[in-house]
Amino acid sequence: MKKIAVLTSGGDAPGMNAAIRAVVRYALYEQMEVYGIERGYAGLLEDKMASMDMASVSNIIQRGGTMLKTARCPEFATQEGVDKGAKILKNRGIEGLVVIGGDGSLRGALDLTHAGIPAVGIPGTIDNDLAYTEFSLGFDTAVNTALDAISKIRDTMNSHERISIVEVMGRKCGDIALYAGINGGAEVIIVPERKVTIDELVFKFTQSRRSGKRSGIVVLAEGAGRAEDYAKALESTTDLTVRPTVLGHIQRGGSPTGTDRLLGTRCGAYAVKLLKAGTGGRIVGLKKGDIYDIDIDKGLALKKVFNSELYELANIISL
Ligand code: ADP
Repeated sequence: MKKIAVLTSGGDAPGMNAAIRAVVRYALYEQMEVYGIERGYAGLLEDKMASMDMASVSNIIQRGGTMLKTARCPEFATQEGVDKGAKILKNRGIEGLVVIGGDGSLRGALDLTHAGIPAVGIPGTIDNDLAYTEFSLGFDTAVNTALDAISKIRDTMNSHERISIVEVMGRKCGDIALYAGINGGAEVIIVPERKVTIDELVFKFTQSRRSGKRSGIVVLAEGAGRAEDYAKALESTTDLTVRPTVLGHIQRGGSPTGTDRLLGTRCGAYAVKLLKAGTGGRIVGLKKGDIYDIDIDKGLALKKVFNSELYELANIISL
């Protein structure tokens, strides 16, 4: 291939900029022309794109978000939308596409491949809910953001002898809660994969209260319940003071960690190599520390396995 494009789609994630930068610069190194499409598939359907050069991706590696902007585009989830997108790319002589995004965005890349534009996907989602890759872009940064918040909350909870329920992102996948919880020394971690009922939580804190403990941290993934509900129930059934904190969108932004920058850089270059060789319909990910690729449909059909070993370990060494 001689002419490719890149877009970011769905929820943004720190590290996307590092991936864009690597795609652009590696493509130029391979003497390919590269276009940046604005606002994901929505921008594609409006033919919003511009040629990228070395300098166009300067000074972005340290930034959160995505310089190409992102969007959700219901039209692209239809066959007519996909065909329109493929036609726009063909009219411009663009032979291949790199898509950076989550599950939905990567499905779009498969549809485009079927419509005649070989596409390669890079996993970009803070939730880490894609089974085919050990980690996705933004996850490490989100964990570190949550961790920083937990450490700060812990200081004040200790001083005032309070319990804090910290709600982090993760609707179906509790990885942010698990990693931030174990690294933040949380007393209890509650994830959608291993729900802890309010009664069980009360039981745990009643026990630890007997040994004199009055403060602590519970990390709760949003998909497992609401911080406020747990806090109210715990406070009404014990003599503990309990405060809920919802971290929210703070977890989606911020300067990417070195780990996310490196993952974005490696995936970006790898995706370009695939397209250079004429290969599409693949998603790029991390397996045992190496970057690899797999068919999009096969990779997305894999079921995410919860890291129960880490969860059990956290339980043993916490409360
Ligand atoms: P994410 O990529 O973060 O999972 P979404 O699920 O919202 O985010 O998907 C982002 C965009 O990808 C959607 O707005 C839509 O344009 C496209 N998309 C989602 N699902 C599909 C699908 N099954 N087929 C084609 N395109 C899809």
